[in-house]
Amino acid sequence: MKYDIVVVGSGITGLSSAYHLKKSNSSLKILVVDKFKTFSQGNTAKSAAAFRDFYSLRENQVMAQAAISFYKHLQDDMNVDLGMKFCGYLFLFDHEKDSEFISKYPNSKIIYDDLSEFFNVAVDDETKKVMDIDSIKTAILDTNAGIIEPDLLSKFYYDELIEMGVEFKFNTEVKRLVLSPYKPLNYPGEPFNWQESDVKYLETDNGIIEGDFYVLCTDVWTTKLLDPLGIDSHLRPKKRQVFQITSPGIKNTVHKNIFNDSGVFPFTIFPSGVYIRPYPQASSFWTSLADDYNRDFSFTENPEPEPDFYTYNIKPILDNYFPAADNSRITSSWAGYYSYNTIDFMPYIFNSLNIITVSGTTGSGIMKGDSIGRVVASRYKHDRATTLYGGKKVINTYSGKYRLSKIEDMIL
Ligand SMILES: Cc1cc2nc3c(=O)[nH]c(=O)nc-3n(C[C@H](O)[C@H](O)[C@H](O)COP(=O)(O)OP(=O)(O)OC[C@H]3O[C@@H](n4cnc5c(N)ncnc54)[C@H](O)[C@@H]3O)c2cc1C
Repeated sequence: MKYDIVVVGSGITGLSSAYHLKKSNSSLKILVVDKFKTFSQGNTAKSAAAFRDFYSLRENQVMAQAAISFYKHLQDDMNVDLGMKFCGYLFLFDHEKDSEFISKYPNSKIIYDDLSEFFNVAVDDETKKVMDIDSIKTAILDTNAGIIEPDLLSKFYYDELIEMGVEFKFNTEVKRLVLSPYKPLNYPGEPFNWQESDVKYLETDNGIIEGDFYVLCTDVWTTKLLDPLGIDSHLRPKKRQVFQITSPGIKNTVHKNIFNDSGVFPFTIFPSGVYIRPYPQASSFWTSLADDYNRDFSFTENPEPEPDFYTYNIKPILDNYFPAADNSRITSSWAGYYSYNTIDFMPYIFNSLNIITVSGTTGSGIMKGDSIGRVVASRYKHDRATTLYGGKKVINTYSGKYRLSKIEDMIL
């Protein structure tokens, strides 16, 4: 069986890509392959599953905004429950922020209310000296932000794909993309440099899979597949860990509305980057920190959460700023990877040979997932631009050796 398109990876970006490819041409024969036993078991399942449209890069903001609007449309207008709650993103800063910078964001506002009911806003002098943190000086709320359930979002795409006739092959690991010349001479060592070639088939632990075109949505595993072909995946993996905590104080707090009526406490980011994400189903918060320096780029297949990371990097911040977490205990924890585009944190979606690769989702692949899928579908057709949900357009550029393009030129 030969497919028009084989999508490798059934996480959020693979599902959304397959969905928009099929939507744009229902006659395409599409197969989605994944090494796990069902869809969205990779980093999509490990996500903190929060969304926001507050970004310093305009392109990131537009990608997220369009996807958020699509998810909201599904939930509000199409009655698809995605567990989406607009509880807001509350940024607590221990320094003054440039108000001009903040005012660029129509959905963000400075909070002047007294926050001391929920947070310790004042840090004592001893702590300031030892920990290099300070009292809360500025609070900013992004209102077009909140939490979503990636399993429900993934299920939406999966059900639609099944309905549209897209095939899935699980428990199948792609081992190698095999290059072959257009006009084979059946000579050992082909393809030679002077022969025009592309990917002929995928070697898997379940046999050979052949397609005319391939879409790699393999996240941090992409490098392993592209390196042998000499194609740079433009990503570095960084381990990320989440700890689920609960306490009597958290049980009393997690369902409180502040600045919103979603019935859930805002996703809150403290000075130093420690965040709490409400998980109302278990009267808990998930807490984490996207640590940068001293966190290397090593990769293992099954990363484990580190209790010491919680104890020495996260807990001291919660102890200082968030009294509801007093006497809290960890009830669950897990670890995964961000696939970082280390240049500008934008998703990298590029064509090379007969492959489109999605890489570098940089910790925001859920909140930009639908926009990423639309870019893939439009790049497959070699369209000049991608129309995102809501009508904004991204220019697709196809220049350079690998026709690499970043989503950098936008018509806003
Ligand atoms: C701790 C943590 C917190 C996060 N928080 C957020 C957040 O709050 N908001 C947000 O938007 N994003 C967040 N992210 C990032 C988000 O989870 C990712 O950007 C997103 O899930 C990437 O989706 P994906 O489909 O590209 O990758 P994945 O979900 O990892 O899917 C890749 C798939 O490819 C398959 N695959 C790989 N190699 C092969 C192969 N050789 N053969 C067959 N199959 C293969 C894997 O099995 C997997 O199913 C977080 C990530 C982590 C780890």
